[in-house]
Amino acid sequence: MKIFVMAKKVLKSLCAKPATFRYPFVPKTYYKNTRGSITIDINKCIYCGMCQRKCPAQAITVTKADKQWKIDRLRCVSCGYCPEICPVKCLSMKNTYSASTQIREEEVFRRA
Ligand code: SF4
Ligand code: SF4
Repeated sequence: MKIFVMAKKVLKSLCAKPATFRYPFVPKTYYKNTRGSITIDINKCIYCGMCQRKCPAQAITVTKADKQWKIDRLRCVSCGYCPEICPVKCLSMKNTYSASTQIREEEVFRRA
C-alpha cells in the first residue's frame, strides 16, 4: 500500500512545476516596499554630512571639498535611515538590489 502512496507522490512531483526559480534566467520579483539599494540625486546634495554621521553601518563618506558622496554597498544594511534624515531629500531607496560583487569597492557620485 505504501508503495502506491510513494509512487503517487513521485508522479506528482515529476509533473509539478519546480518549487524554486531558475534565477538568473527568471528575474526576481520586487515588491513595492522592498528595501533595495540607496540612490542619490547628487545635484541636490549640499554635502552636509548628516547621512555619514547617522549611518549605523558607516557605509557613507561625504567629502565637501571634492563635492563627492561615496557608499560602500557591502556595508549598507538597507535600514532606510539616510533617506529619512537627509535635509534636502536627495537620497531614496530603490526597490531593487545592487548587483552582487566580490570586490569591495565604494560607489562614487560627483556633481556633474
Ligand atoms: S544628508 Fe543629504 S544633503 Fe547631506 S550629505 Fe547626505 S545626501 Fe547630501
Ligand atoms: S540605508 Fe542605512 S545602512 Fe544604508 S547607507 Fe543609509 S543609513 Fe547607512
